Amino acid sequence: MTRLVCYLMVSLLAACAQAGVGHSAFSIEDVGNGVYVHHGEHLDIDTGYQGDICNTSFVVGSNGVAVIDTGGSLKVGNQLRTAIRKVTDKPILYVINTHVHPDHVYGNAAFLDDKPQFVGHAKLGDMMQLRKEAYDKLNSQYLGADAKGTVQVLPTLPIKESLVLDLGDRKLTVVPYLVAHTNTDITIMDSKTSTLFTGDLLFISSG
Ligand SMILES: [Zn+2]
Repeated sequence: MTRLVCYLMVSLLAACAQAGVGHSAFSIEDVGNGVYVHHGEHLDIDTGYQGDICNTSFVVGSNGVAVIDTGGSLKVGNQLRTAIRKVTDKPILYVINTHVHPDHVYGNAAFLDDKPQFVGHAKLGDMMQLRKEAYDKLNSQYLGADAKGTVQVLPTLPIKESLVLDLGDRKLTVVPYLVAHTNTDITIMDSKTSTLFTGDLLFISSG
C-alpha cells in the first residue's frame, strides 16, 4: 500500500483557516526506513510568515541522501541541513524541489557546498526566474534579516519525463506533471518504502 507523505503546508493558492502552532525548534520526524520529515508551520505566506511552512523531507540511501524541498529561506535550509547531518554523514546527492513556490525552494542555497544535483520540473528554472522579483519582494517583506542570503538556486537536472534517481539500495522515481497545483509539479516515489512525496498536490486540512 502506498504511504503518502502529505505536505500540510499552505500555499499561495490554498489558504487555510487553521491557526499555526509555534515551533520552538526545528524538529525532524523519523518516519522509518530512512525517511525523515520536518513539518512546517501551518500558515499562509502572509503576516507571520517566517519561511518555514513547507513540509521538507529527506531520504537516506546506502550511497547518499536526497532532500525533498528545502524551505523558504537560507536559514530554514541550514536548519534542515544540520538536521540531516545529525542523522547521517553520507553525501547529499540530490536536492529536489517539488514545485516553484518560494516556501519550497529558497532553502536550496544551504546545500550548494554539497554540490548535489538540483532536481526539478523542466519548467521550474524558467518559472523561478519569471517569479524572482515577486518572490524576492515577499521574502524581504516577511523574512526580515532571514531574507539575507535567501537566493534562488536553479535546477541542474530538469525533469521532462519520468526519471529514476539512484541512492544505492533504493531508487526514487520522479514524475513531472502538466498544469496542476502549478505548472512545475513533480512527485517522488521511494522504491524501498513505497512512500509517495506529493508536494502541494495533496493538502490535508481541517480549515
Ligand atoms: Zn505550493
